Amino acid sequence: MDNKKLAQLLFPEVTKTPEYYEKLYPERNLPEGARVTRFAPSPTGYLHIGGLFASLVAALTAKKSGGVFYLRIEDTDKKREVKGGIQGIIDGLNYFGIEIDEGRISETEDRGDYAPYRQSERKEIYQCFAKMLVEQGMAYACFCTEEELEQIRAAQANEPIKGYYGKYAKSRNLTYEEIEQNLKLGKPWTLRFKSEGDIERKIIFTDFIKGKIEMSENVLDVVLLKQDGIPTYHFAHCVDDHLMRTTHIVRGDEWIASVPVHIQLFKACGFKVPKYAHIAPIMKEEKNEQGEVTGKRKLSKRKDPEAAVSYYAEVGFPAESVTEYLLTLANSNFEDWRRANPDLPAADFPFNLKKMSASGALFDLVKLNDVSKNVISKFSAEKVYNNVLEWASENDAHFAELLKRDKAFAKEMFAIDRGGKKPRKDIAKWSEVKDYYSYFFKETYENDYALPENIAAEDAVKILEEYGKVYSADDDKDAWFSKIKALCEPLGFTPNVKEYKKNPDSFKGHVGDVSTVIRIAVTGRRNTPDLYAIMRLLGEKEVLSRLKTMIEKLA
Ligand code: GLU
Repeated sequence: MDNKKLAQLLFPEVTKTPEYYEKLYPERNLPEGARVTRFAPSPTGYLHIGGLFASLVAALTAKKSGGVFYLRIEDTDKKREVKGGIQGIIDGLNYFGIEIDEGRISETEDRGDYAPYRQSERKEIYQCFAKMLVEQGMAYACFCTEEELEQIRAAQANEPIKGYYGKYAKSRNLTYEEIEQNLKLGKPWTLRFKSEGDIERKIIFTDFIKGKIEMSENVLDVVLLKQDGIPTYHFAHCVDDHLMRTTHIVRGDEWIASVPVHIQLFKACGFKVPKYAHIAPIMKEEKNEQGEVTGKRKLSKRKDPEAAVSYYAEVGFPAESVTEYLLTLANSNFEDWRRANPDLPAADFPFNLKKMSASGALFDLVKLNDVSKNVISKFSAEKVYNNVLEWASENDAHFAELLKRDKAFAKEMFAIDRGGKKPRKDIAKWSEVKDYYSYFFKETYENDYALPENIAAEDAVKILEEYGKVYSADDDKDAWFSKIKALCEPLGFTPNVKEYKKNPDSFKGHVGDVSTVIRIAVTGRRNTPDLYAIMRLLGEKEVLSRLKTMIEKLA
């Protein structure tokens, strides 16, 4: 068979040559060791936490080596495409601070020299390389109908290898004339790869994450171009990763099974085989009704709201918290590094692809909450204010109004117990803030005036009455606390906690109990950030009124 003639018959409209594209998309001019990685999602729905994780890992791999991370949209399957899917992915990456050095940057725009970065705009390129494979006798037109393929499937029911290969690959042996005739009759055709693989032979490759992997060669004549001339994922990604000069393919490990086909395709096209890093999926512990752990499973779109990255913005986890948490899943030494470097930005962490766990990391919302409390505790009041306002503007208009009513007040509220060596760590997400600070706004303030069991109502009343007489909004913190301590003895309490512990029966309680009563009167809580700062911010009038109200309630 004259392959050149056949290639011309199948692809008469392809005029460009592979050399043309090799020149158009030359090797990148990057320093030695720089890695080029990509995130290559299909716009088939929302951004999944696994996709975010993979892109974080890919972006860090590129960044740490002085390389390039790019976004390529793999939209060859139009049936599964979702409207707005591309923008959703880009917005998701932007929200989490994952910088796209190059690639698709909006539904319609690209940035970078290897454009277009959307597969549906690259049809001509794939066709050119498809033609090249036909010329080299490595691909052929397959005219099998859906019914014929169905018959093959039925015939293979008890065979170990299923698919189009060997004696089943009828179209492999068509003559030029038969092909020409079929084309004349307008029969639809796909382009198939002519696999030279042997099931007895192994391919061996070293995956950055999984280590050495040995698999049988691929024997199937996989489809390269579908009947409409659009490539399959296998073929498109191979052409793209070559022409976009990807050095490291970082992706989910559901693709490991396809590596034999991919390596075969890279080689058949004369491309250098890139390095692979396959990431295990993020897992979740499965629990029964009693809360006992019964097993592990993949995070599921259907069952777990936290599988969609939109969840984090909705409940108000700052992007920094989510990426910081994902780093704890990515490299187990991250937490040690963080303890040693509490104030460095996460971006300074020396991320190492080889330190990724080969098995699926467990996603733990409780841990995310802890990480987030730590992250938020380091934010400035200004940053907290801006973040909370942004979250509330989307999710809680009423709270947004309260925050905007007196900005200076709200910022001071967020400044309490913030900054300094030991900032308070109790906010994990913005949706908790309204409740957490509810006593600062009369619209949200609630108080049930419930006392701890060890404090009698009549003692509480006396504490509040006496305190009301000496309280002054002008006191500094020492004077403020001295006054609380001074209340103790005359009312049967002790200012000295140690003394109380030695002789608990000699006192009604200690200074902590006295301040608890005042705290409850002012905030309705037993536990709050710095009470002195809270009272300063609420102001004298409000504090006195709250003390008075509690006295009335208890009397
Ligand atoms: N488009 C593929 C997906 O959606 C990407 C696989 C790859 O990264 O090579 O999963």
